Amino acid sequence: MLKGIKLRLYPTRAQEGQLWQLFGNNRFVWNQMLAMAKARYKNNPGSRFINEYGMNNLLKTLKTEYLFLKLSDSTSLQVVNHQLAQAFSMLFKHRGGQPRFKSRRSAKQAYTGRFPASKQLVVAKHRVKLPKLGSIKTSKTGQLVDGQIKRYTVSHDATGRYYLSLQVEFPEPKSLPKTGVQVGIDLGVADLAITSNGQKYPKFQAPWEEKQGITWQRKFDRRKRQAKVNVIQWNHDKAHLIKLELNDYQNWQRARKIKARYQQRLANRRKDYLNKLTTQLVKVYDVIVIEDLKVKNLMHNHHLAKSIANASWYQFRTMLDYKCQWYGKQLIVVSPNYTSQQCSKCGFQSGRKPLEIREWTCPHCGTHHDRDINAAVNILHKGLKAVQ
Ligand SMILES: [Zn+2]
Repeated sequence: MLKGIKLRLYPTRAQEGQLWQLFGNNRFVWNQMLAMAKARYKNNPGSRFINEYGMNNLLKTLKTEYLFLKLSDSTSLQVVNHQLAQAFSMLFKHRGGQPRFKSRRSAKQAYTGRFPASKQLVVAKHRVKLPKLGSIKTSKTGQLVDGQIKRYTVSHDATGRYYLSLQVEFPEPKSLPKTGVQVGIDLGVADLAITSNGQKYPKFQAPWEEKQGITWQRKFDRRKRQAKVNVIQWNHDKAHLIKLELNDYQNWQRARKIKARYQQRLANRRKDYLNKLTTQLVKVYDVIVIEDLKVKNLMHNHHLAKSIANASWYQFRTMLDYKCQWYGKQLIVVSPNYTSQQCSKCGFQSGRKPLEIREWTCPHCGTHHDRDINAAVNILHKGLKAVQ
């Protein structure tokens, strides 16, 4: 079982310099190979595209010419070739655009290498050892115990922080004990999840982070606009000898960083909340029935609140999906049609009800329903019928 794990990295000043050299090396190889492929095509449009193997051969020549490439983990340069070959094959299949040259200016910088199976990554509780870089301080490494590292990616993003993303292979998890309980779950806007047995789990909320995120997004947009105007005006005047560049605007760059940090913190907290919720559900229930989100989404996508809820729904569904697989439980997905219109007791179709109607009484059998719980019960029935 492969898992993705992301740690913070705290490089020293010297290591930071080294990292930027390695980011640069990867970009250099990417840009060189891409330029070569383009020139080759231009000279002879009929020539065959150089594949990954061919690029790896060229890499050997590049390395003798540009000695700084030897500072890199050589597997990371091969990964660049692999990614470029992949980008080309997507292009030829008309599933992706032209690969583009990479810029030193872009906020996101990264390189990926294959981690040698014979080496140990974790050297202490807060330290890992990476090829060419040596020992680096990290956030806690506890979750890596008994995992085998396959690939590692070192990155720097708009938050101005460094991260280590790992692809780790873990032994298959043990199935959770069976409880014999089945449940239907309705996904809502006010409450994230409502179960057929009447439990309501509130939606994820972090008002302070949300507000800060919006405020800084606005500041970012405003400063960016202002910087653009300034640059155009300055550069338009031919008397100025020095050309200004957008990235010279420090307060804009600062806003970009702060904005990215709030947005990231929000995403992390949501992920954490959903992780706890889904783990709990998978522990308690053997069979979980939910609605197909695609259809649900299409029906109501003009609601702003819904589109925000969507992000949570998809993550919730994805987590349930893989956790059910890991722990030997069953997830059934049903179409959401009529689940909120039908009486779960007698099956009477009472027609479409606007969202503000939270409770209703069935005109046929007289049962009083909570809208969401009734829908969850219908979802459960539908799911159980589908697998009979
Ligand atoms: Zn009824």
